[in-house]
Amino acid sequence: MPERNFISRCAAFAADLAVHTLLPDTCVHCRADLRFRGEEPLCEECVRGVKSVPEPFCRICGVHLPDGGAHCYVCRSPSRRRLSKCGLIRSAFLFTDEIRAVVHGLKYRGRAGLAGYLSGLASARLAAYEELNEYGVLVPVPLFEARRRERGFNQSFLLARGLAQASGRELLDKALFKIKDTPAQAGLDARQRLENLQNAFAADERLAAGRKILLIDDVATTGATLEACAAALKKAGASAVAGFSVAREQPSGSDLQ
Ligand SMILES: [Zn+2]
Ligand SMILES: [Zn+2]
Repeated sequence: MPERNFISRCAAFAADLAVHTLLPDTCVHCRADLRFRGEEPLCEECVRGVKSVPEPFCRICGVHLPDGGAHCYVCRSPSRRRLSKCGLIRSAFLFTDEIRAVVHGLKYRGRAGLAGYLSGLASARLAAYEELNEYGVLVPVPLFEARRRERGFNQSFLLARGLAQASGRELLDKALFKIKDTPAQAGLDARQRLENLQNAFAADERLAAGRKILLIDDVATTGATLEACAAALKKAGASAVAGFSVAREQPSGSDLQ
């Protein structure tokens, strides 16, 4: 019966439309069709671009060392060393184009659901870094309150919440505040990044004192943001601070001077 065929075709079309409307339907990186593949934001091809930070990496700042060694150029030299308050940094993944597409979907396209995907992937990497085991409290890198309201959420808070659930750590999201609305760090060199963040954060000593804190951020580059946050937490009495980011952007040549 032709009418029945037509009706069933309409029903199939409506169901298809509903799936496309309710679920992410294309890969966030290459836009390939993801129909009926659930909530994975990357297609099978692009998910291969999610790469753990490989060994060897700097034992202090965690940056990958393609030429080998135990420490990067910056951490080797006491006069250049940038991390003094943040004891060490580790990161889950290299900032490849594929990871960048997921992070940007989360931050700039309001897709808060992508935080669950990223923290799910990153939780296995967090567990693999045994040197972070002693840091039992997770604190997200905060946004300036007006920026948080503009975006609707703090992506680092969503990531920290997922990582806290997966690792059984405590989540402390009222311990650290951003008290200065600073310009974006992108495009600044390492020294400018540090100056930009001078006194930008403040911590509540009632919550931070005596704690061993692991700061959580989406992307780390030179580590300037984590260092500025760690300085505020240490000032408030935190006994030790380290950082963990989902992605690690390799600092450019000028950042390594
Ligand atoms: Zn893809
Ligand atoms: Zn280093």
